[in-house]
This record gives sequence, structure tokens and C-alpha cells, in this order.
Amino acid sequence: MAYDDNNIFARILRGEIPSKKVFEDAHTLAFEDINPQAPVHVLVIPKGRYVSMTDFAETATDAEMAALTRAVLKVAEIKGLCAAGYRVLANAGANAHQEVPHLHLHVFGGRPLGPMLMRT
Ligand code: AMP
Repeated sequence: MAYDDNNIFARILRGEIPSKKVFEDAHTLAFEDINPQAPVHVLVIPKGRYVSMTDFAETATDAEMAALTRAVLKVAEIKGLCAAGYRVLANAGANAHQEVPHLHLHVFGGRPLGPMLMRT
């Protein structure tokens, strides 16, 4: 899928839409999810133009990959999640119900999070 420069996270990165920043470095931005599913729900995104984990894993630089992983740790530390635990989730594509076509890692925590997937 081609990258859409008007997706909502691209607009957040350009400062066209406000976000509640949790952490930022040269390669990543972390901000509060607008519709939190847990007491802590933060999105961690690369600043590069990646639709999903698929093209990120294929084409991102090692520095971008390391930064995304370290940003998750930063968020967990800032939000005090390391001791009790947290969940990191990335939806990719239709079966995963990815809504925003810019790679984002959800970081959830702040309460017991239940089973990993709903049984249907
Ligand atoms: P996904 O279904 O994995 O693509 O998740 C998209 C996430 O983006 C959802 O959890 C939304 O609540 C969140 N979201 C959508 N728009 C915004 C926004 N403007 N600021 C913060 N989070 C947003």
C-alpha cells in the first residue's frame, strides 16, 4: 500500500493536529491515544513514512528500528509500567483492523489487561 501523506498521524507529525506528547526523539514520537482502551494507552510511531510493520521491517534503517524499540521502553518508564507489566501491539492490514495507515505501536498498561485476543 502506498503511503498517504494526509493520514492523521502524518498530520500530527507535521503539527497540523494536536497531540499529547509523551516522548520524542529524532526518529520517533509517542503520544496519548485519543480513545484510550486502558488507564495507560500510548501510541509510538516512527517519524518516517511507513504504512505498517511490513514496510517498516523491510525498509527502515537500523537506527529507526532501534529508536522505535527504545521509545517503547521510554514510554514504559515514563508511565511507570515496567514493574507491573504492559502490552505492546501493532495492527497491520485488514485482518488486524488497522485504522490509521502509519505504523503505530500501542502501549497498554495500568491494570491487568486480560487475555491477548478476544475469542470469537
Ligand atoms: P489501529 O486500529 O491499530 O490503526 O489504531 C488506531 C488508533 O489511533 C486508535 O486507538 C485511535 O483511538 C487512535 N487515534 C486516532 N486518531 C487519533 C488522534 N488524533 N490522536 C491520538 N490517537 C488517535
